[in-house]
Amino acid sequence: MATVPPLVGRHFIGGHWLGPAGAQFESRNPAQLDEVLGVFPQASAREANEAVAAARSAYPSWRRTSRIHRAELFDNLAQLIKRETENLARLMAQECGKVLTECRAEVIEGLHMIQYVFGTGRMPCGEIVASEIAEKDASVRRKPWGVVAVITPWNFPFAVPLWMLCPSLLEGNTVVFKPSEDTPLIGQRLIELFLEAGFPGGVVNLVHGEAEAGEALVRNPDVNVVLFTGSYEVGHRIQQLSAEHYDRIVACEMGSKSAVIVCEDARLDLAVTSALISAFKTSGQRCVSASRILVHDRLVEAFVQKYLDGAKRLRIGSPLDAGNFTGPVIHRAAVEKVLRYNQLAREEGAEVLLDGSPLTSGEHARGCYLAPFIYRVEHRPGVRCIREEVFGPHVAIIPFRDNEHAIQIYNDTPYGLSMAVITESYRTMRLFREECEYGMGYVNLPCIGAEVHLPFGGVKKSGNGHPSAAGLIETVTHKTAWTVNHGTEVKMAQGLTTQLEA
Ligand code: NAD
Repeated sequence: MATVPPLVGRHFIGGHWLGPAGAQFESRNPAQLDEVLGVFPQASAREANEAVAAARSAYPSWRRTSRIHRAELFDNLAQLIKRETENLARLMAQECGKVLTECRAEVIEGLHMIQYVFGTGRMPCGEIVASEIAEKDASVRRKPWGVVAVITPWNFPFAVPLWMLCPSLLEGNTVVFKPSEDTPLIGQRLIELFLEAGFPGGVVNLVHGEAEAGEALVRNPDVNVVLFTGSYEVGHRIQQLSAEHYDRIVACEMGSKSAVIVCEDARLDLAVTSALISAFKTSGQRCVSASRILVHDRLVEAFVQKYLDGAKRLRIGSPLDAGNFTGPVIHRAAVEKVLRYNQLAREEGAEVLLDGSPLTSGEHARGCYLAPFIYRVEHRPGVRCIREEVFGPHVAIIPFRDNEHAIQIYNDTPYGLSMAVITESYRTMRLFREECEYGMGYVNLPCIGAEVHLPFGGVKKSGNGHPSAAGLIETVTHKTAWTVNHGTEVKMAQGLTTQLEA
């Protein structure tokens, strides 16, 4: 079969695709590391700052366009995404190693966000409120902040950028987008579709690159809002740098140590299915992936047996093969990281139940494939493998005595993103809902499975309270109070007098 030459990537700044110049980096297929999919320019601070300047200069005229006009451009974009669904899914599968079914679902999730903001364009963008003074009309109106920097991870290279780009642009902000260095190809394809949909040059800008490019965007004082999704370490660095800017808004969605809690009254098959999907979809590389399965003492033996049977049957292989449950992890560094945590678990006293290791022969020989690593460990304070994010097929089964014990274990990590409770009892469900620290909670479901019209975000090291997806509309605007006097004399609230002389 003829090989396709690698795509030559470009920055898109101020309505122009820039020719390759300076340092470059490659995008490789994690299922076949010898396959280079594209070669991309590495933005330095110079290109990042040029992109911010282009977004700043496009801002006044974009802000003045009708909100409904801006929304209608998203309708154009939706039609293009429908046309391109299959191509986008295949590209994503090749670039980030997720299986095709997951990639299709991600394209659809991105499409849902586009449809959501299209609909939002004709919805209220403020509210009328009462005034203490009968002659006054008071209203709350939302205004855009200005320039938004969007910095995204590799694991949702299409939907997560859309969660951030769509509300920002709808509300009249302009944007500089820096996709992950691991998925620049799908990032660039997304921006090409924005242009085809009719978004003007300068309104959407694209810079490729790594930490240097991202950090230059964050350091630029002309960026009003930074929307970041990625690891805690990078998010925290962005928060620290942003503290230098008096008018900076930062929304960070970061890592997790999510969990499924299998209660004493759980339906066993439902619990096993939920826990397998939570842990091993995307090879455990979702921000919400469960790397902890908490199981009531009375169920743990039966659960372990069925869970291991299920895990052994999961098909791991080419992302383009429809029969596979999951594909490779993203790169060699990810393989090394997971293996380090597998070893740490052993050193911390885990009983290894399924000894995940690299899959290196046959169809797996050229890629970054890992088998599931499953272990049983008692909860003890300070055990790192059940508190730190691993981001791979690495799962702890942790027994608990009663619901209070499960809550204590669940909350004993610095993260708080997603959790699922498997129970038949509404009282138990309510207890976990109230006492656990999380952003997304599920009952009798896996702890993955977001929908765009719900807020998406976490607490503690998982996020700083500005949820993504639909919830982001609040973050990319600021509220103004607007008060108009329809009387012919000045009257003040709180009984303040208007008398000028004694
Ligand atoms: P990452 O933090 O390594 O990179 C994310 C982005 O930040 C990339 O675009 C990267 O180039 C950029 N970056 C790196 N250093 C930077 C710096 N100093 N300044 C500015 N930008 C910088 O994350 P990743 O490996 O791409 O993705 C995996 C992580 O993302 C996991 O921790 C996962 O939990 C998290 N994630 C969270 C959510 C969520 O909604 N909470 C969703 C998806 C992924």
